[in-house]
Amino acid sequence: MGISVNKEKCVGCGACYRSCPQGAITIDTVEGRKKASIDQSKCVYCGSCKSSCRFSAIDIDAQKKAFSNKEAYKGIWVYAEINNGKTDESAFELLTKARVLA
Ligand code: SF4
Ligand code: SF4
Repeated sequence: MGISVNKEKCVGCGACYRSCPQGAITIDTVEGRKKASIDQSKCVYCGSCKSSCRFSAIDIDAQKKAFSNKEAYKGIWVYAEINNGKTDESAFELLTKARVLA
């Protein structure tokens, strides 16, 4: 599994849900508590949800899926601006577009 939600850490705040450009995240009620779930088939591994989660509840193993077929990404470049160690939000949108192009 390339991306997962740590249900112990997740507080169901919905920040990841709002940040996902793919509509891959749902907030479900499990045993009376809200928890995030990710539809692996919709996820493009942009990382936006992980960046938006203040509880470090999302883990992404980008190596597993995003780069399983490097040939498909040949010739596609994305430049990301990083300020004070924080990646600009626009970079995640660009990564999503790049994966669609690949
Ligand atoms: S942002 Fe983090 S804590 Fe909030 S719902 Fe998503 S995974 Fe859970
Ligand atoms: S990595 Fe991107 S596409 Fe996947 S669930 Fe998170 S925000 Fe959505």
